[in-house]
Amino acid sequence: MVRVRFAPSPTGFLHIGSARSALFNWLFARHENGKFLLRIEDTDRARSKDEYLNEIMESLKWLGMETDEELVFQSKRLDIYKDAADRLINDGKAYREGDAVRIKKCEEKIRVQDLSRGEIEFDPEILKDEVLIKSDGTPTYNFACVIDDADMKITHVIRGDDHISNTPKQIMIYEALGLEVPKFAHIPLIMGPDGGRLSKRHGATSIMEYKQLGYLSEAIVNFLALMGWAPGDNREILSRSDLIKEFSLKDVNKTSAIFNIDKLNWLNGQYIKEMDPGKLATVVMPILQEKNVINENFDREKLTNLVELYKTRVRTLVEFPTHLNPFYTKNLKREEEAVKKYLENDETRKNLVKWRRELSSVDPFVKDRIEDSCRKTAASLGIKPKELIHPTRVAISGTTTGAGLFEMMEIMGKETVFQRIDEATGSGAL
Ligand code: GLU
Repeated sequence: MVRVRFAPSPTGFLHIGSARSALFNWLFARHENGKFLLRIEDTDRARSKDEYLNEIMESLKWLGMETDEELVFQSKRLDIYKDAADRLINDGKAYREGDAVRIKKCEEKIRVQDLSRGEIEFDPEILKDEVLIKSDGTPTYNFACVIDDADMKITHVIRGDDHISNTPKQIMIYEALGLEVPKFAHIPLIMGPDGGRLSKRHGATSIMEYKQLGYLSEAIVNFLALMGWAPGDNREILSRSDLIKEFSLKDVNKTSAIFNIDKLNWLNGQYIKEMDPGKLATVVMPILQEKNVINENFDREKLTNLVELYKTRVRTLVEFPTHLNPFYTKNLKREEEAVKKYLENDETRKNLVKWRRELSSVDPFVKDRIEDSCRKTAASLGIKPKELIHPTRVAISGTTTGAGLFEMMEIMGKETVFQRIDEATGSGAL
């Protein structure tokens, strides 16, 4: 049975690149009906922090990568590493150097049949007597990794290209211990658009930052999967189950993946657009509350109608508060430029007052009836409907862009619409 693991060090937040490694492991496990395990590489006690561990766990949960067995903590296994080192010393395969332990290097070529890169050959010259146990008694990454991968019965090690140089060292340790060597798949690193390794200067790098920035976990998962892998056809939008079905290590690219924020924004917009409005309302709600757009007593149906109305216009969830604020605020602020352009002309204001009067008899106050009234009023005034539409939009929302005016008016309701037209035309209740 396939058993893979994700082995983060809790010395920082979950980085996009690590999340992608985790995802490839998870997808492979799910595709193969295998197990996905999590190991915390926390032997560096000074740099490992609970805060990071919690954040890593929260990120994995948010991305929907559930694990199958108990977490393994390296910090709890120090005796196991020491015992293994002692065994190697007894077998004459390792030796002490002060308090440290080193392995005697292997003299033969090491070959790896990498599942995504093909055969890789390492000259024995690159190997030295690697440290297994440091003088402070803690194991090196390469040693602990081998002992744990063997104990956890890991069948496939899927990790970033940056670990390729560790692979021959690890194989040498497996062989010295007489353990079966797992299969390896090294996946290309993620680069920024300038070709440098993805880092802070390219933008947000931690998964939770993306959540804060208004991305949906489904879009992030889809996006991460496409960094270094493709389904072999032109599809770009793949649900979690599509990904599980299609994922294979042999389709992992050999060249580096480029982080393209425009693509993520596009994907996120697609997922928002396709999302069920009720569910979308649920995820948008806390964001609106945080921005004080709504409080606890809000009308769920109104919110659902609003997210439905605006979902094709946003790419991230954090764009909703600005769009939706006019529908909730008691104190609408209108953009100065927009007012100047559309509401300062006396003729226009008279026309709005006229339409506002016509609208009084529109009942029910629904978009088709409102539109009808708009066209009739415009015709009777000898003007084009847009000469009513643009100024009204500014009057009721304070801005020149937004959803269709008639839908906006229906959701906003007669009372607020009238009050705002009155306010904008300076006409008072007529
Ligand atoms: N802790 C290592 C890292 O985060 C794990 C590497 C591996 O998967 O072997 O890079």
